[in-house]
Parts: sequence; C-alpha cells; structure tokens
Amino acid sequence: MRVWIDHADCCGVGVCVDACPELFTLESDSLAYVNVGGRRFGSNEAAIVSDELLDSVLDAAEDCPQDCIFVAA
Ligand code: SF4
Repeated sequence: MRVWIDHADCCGVGVCVDACPELFTLESDSLAYVNVGGRRFGSNEAAIVSDELLDSVLDAAEDCPQDCIFVAA
C-alpha cells in the first residue's frame, strides 16, 4: 500500500504515532512523518508500506483528527 500525510492539515498531536509507531514519528517541527527503510517522507510524498501494517495504518488514518493521513492500494 501507499501511505502519505498532508502536512498542511497535520496538527502534531501524534495520534498516528500511538496507533502505528512502526511507521509514524512526530518530529521537532511538530509534524508527523511516514518513515520506511530509514527514509523519512515529506508532505504528500507517498511511501510504499508493507501490508503487514495495514490494520494499524488504517487505525491511524481513522483516528487522525485532521483526516490528513492517506492510504491507497
Ligand atoms: S494523527 Fe494526523 S494530525 Fe495528528 S500528528 Fe498524526 S497525521 Fe498529524
């Protein structure tokens, strides 16, 4: 699956990190990032993510108060 965050709407509360710490981090700029294979992906930059994380990624997207986490096949 592909996963990305639109930083224009991220409020930095970190619900996504709680739901899927394997993928999301909250950084010093108070924005959440998608991290895969040692690389950090910027705003609206889609990362290819293992389907093993599908359930927790969907939880993060559902729980995100800003609806700014996007998941696509
Ligand atoms: S849950 Fe959404 S708004 Fe909150 S830090 Fe994560 S991406 Fe940003």
